Amino acid sequence: MDHHKVIIVGSGPAGYTAALYAARANLSPLLYEGFFSGPAGGQLMSTTDVENYPGFPEGVTGPEMMDAFRKQCARFGTELLREDVESIDLSKRPYKVVGKKTTATCDALIIATGATAQRLEIPGAGEDGFWQKGVTACAICDGAMPIFREKELYVIGGGDSAVEEATFLTKYGSKVYIVHRREELRASKIMAKRAINHPKIEILWNSVITNIEGEKVVGSVTVQNVKTGAEEKRDAAGVFFAIGHKPNTDFIGGQLKTNPQGYLLVKPGTTYTDIEGVFAAGDVQDPIYRQAVTAAGSGCMAAIDAERWLSE
Ligand code: NAP
Repeated sequence: MDHHKVIIVGSGPAGYTAALYAARANLSPLLYEGFFSGPAGGQLMSTTDVENYPGFPEGVTGPEMMDAFRKQCARFGTELLREDVESIDLSKRPYKVVGKKTTATCDALIIATGATAQRLEIPGAGEDGFWQKGVTACAICDGAMPIFREKELYVIGGGDSAVEEATFLTKYGSKVYIVHRREELRASKIMAKRAINHPKIEILWNSVITNIEGEKVVGSVTVQNVKTGAEEKRDAAGVFFAIGHKPNTDFIGGQLKTNPQGYLLVKPGTTYTDIEGVFAAGDVQDPIYRQAVTAAGSGCMAAIDAERWLSE
């Protein structure tokens, strides 16, 4: 069984950045990029243009950016493994990482497996329909795309994310509808008030979207009132899922402390989890910001935390 000073699990901006810093600190990290769990590169692999990552004034596609991250950490000696991690054993040191094909041990472990935006199986919303052609799960990433400018946009959800994303989208769309399945928002009172009072936001209560249609991109949605059953086809250029994220922690088997939503808990201002030598970076520990740039920043923090912990 191979032993490594540092193993990193996860291949989004957090994992690759942690690997870059760990490799440059001569820690020869091993990084599990995942395989069946999704393409190496994480959520950005299903994003088109990334226009909010500093340093790319003309924007860059998510896959191009992740390819560059990957090459950069490989250049400094990261060992990359296209394999899913099935479980970890944190009961004793060295920690054991059990992959689909290989098992390895490490002194320090960095978990950067991200979170998955929840989506609904609405006809027209999938990859064979309008996914990334007007349907997305991240208004902040995709909202500024030209196809949404001065058009009617629909946000599904009733929590803080839905309100925040709808408010963000008012900068681009002519009108933003929040489609919520109940008649009361889950969002905090102050955020809910902001949405209800916003002149460009209208909330469609007790409503769900049952169909998405269009030609090359989204052109219309069918909205159903769940109380009356009445359906209405409406013009639409965008559908944004804001129904929550699920942090990718199943393989941890409850060995690390989490918040009630399942995000890994870290000591504030650091990447230290509650088990010594185990660090968490990126969306798996971040229910709030969830941006590529914040994930990359916390990946850098995790590598520095791990390096200092190892040298102590
Ligand atoms: P959330 O609070 O869990 O809200 C998810 C929303 O999606 C709920 O309104 C829920 O409806 C709806 N939903 C879930 N499954 C659905 C389905 N199958 N069909 C239709 N609707 C569905 O998630 P979130 O808004 O992403 O927020 C997550 C956490 O981050 C929260 O703690 C939130 O406060 C925090 N957050 C904070 C800020 C901020 O302070 N600026 C911004 C964003 C997020 P129901 O209400 O009927 O369950």
